[in-house]
Amino acid sequence: MDDLRELYQELILDHNQNPHNYGEMDDPTATADGFNPLCGDRLTLYLRMSDEVVEDIKFVGSGCAISKASASIMTTLLKGKTRKEAITLFEMFHKMVTTGELPEGDLGKLAVLSGVYKYPARVKCAVLAWHTSKNALEGKESVAKTE
Ligand code: ZN
Repeated sequence: MDDLRELYQELILDHNQNPHNYGEMDDPTATADGFNPLCGDRLTLYLRMSDEVVEDIKFVGSGCAISKASASIMTTLLKGKTRKEAITLFEMFHKMVTTGELPEGDLGKLAVLSGVYKYPARVKCAVLAWHTSKNALEGKESVAKTE
C-alpha cells in the first residue's frame, strides 16, 4: 500500500487542494459532463476552441483526490494543444494508466499517475476527466461514463 499512499500524497499536495483551471467558463464552445459511478466522481468540463486549438479549458466537480488531480494536470497539458494532439495525449494517458507503461514523449506531471494501473478501481478515477474532455473535443453531448 506504500505506493498508493505516496501517490496520493504527491497528487494531493500538487493538485487536489489547489487544482489548476478550476471554475466555470462564461463562453465555452463545448461542455461535457463526466460521472464515475464506481467512486462517485463527477465533473463538468468547459472547452473553448479557437479553430483547432484548445484556447482555454476549465472544470468543476466533486470527487476523490485522484480524479481531481488528474483533471487538474490534464487541463494544464491540453491548453494550447490542437484537437488532434489532445486526442493523442488521451490515448497515451489511457495506455499508461491501464498498463503502467510510460509512453514515449513528454507526459510531464502525468507520469505521477502511472502507478494507478495497479489499482483497477482507481484507473476509472484517473481517466474520467480525459474521457470527458475527449467527448467535448469530439462534440459529443452524452455524459461520459467510465464503464
Ligand atoms: Zn475517484
